[in-house]
Amino acid sequence: MVEQRPFLGVNFKCCGVYARIYKNPKGDAYEGRCPRCGRPIRFRIDPEKGTRHRFFDVR
Ligand SMILES: [Zn+2]
Repeated sequence: MVEQRPFLGVNFKCCGVYARIYKNPKGDAYEGRCPRCGRPIRFRIDPEKGTRHRFFDVR
């Protein structure tokens, strides 16, 4: 069975690259890191509203 993992598209301003980040195991945030410099990022998920936006810019 293939699990569909929800993801966010993130534009990493630090390196000018686009990457996907995935929900963490707890499901309360999206976590990932810049594929080039390894800078970690995290977006908390609102438990009631969820995440409205699918794409983010990271500075
Ligand atoms: Zn970077």
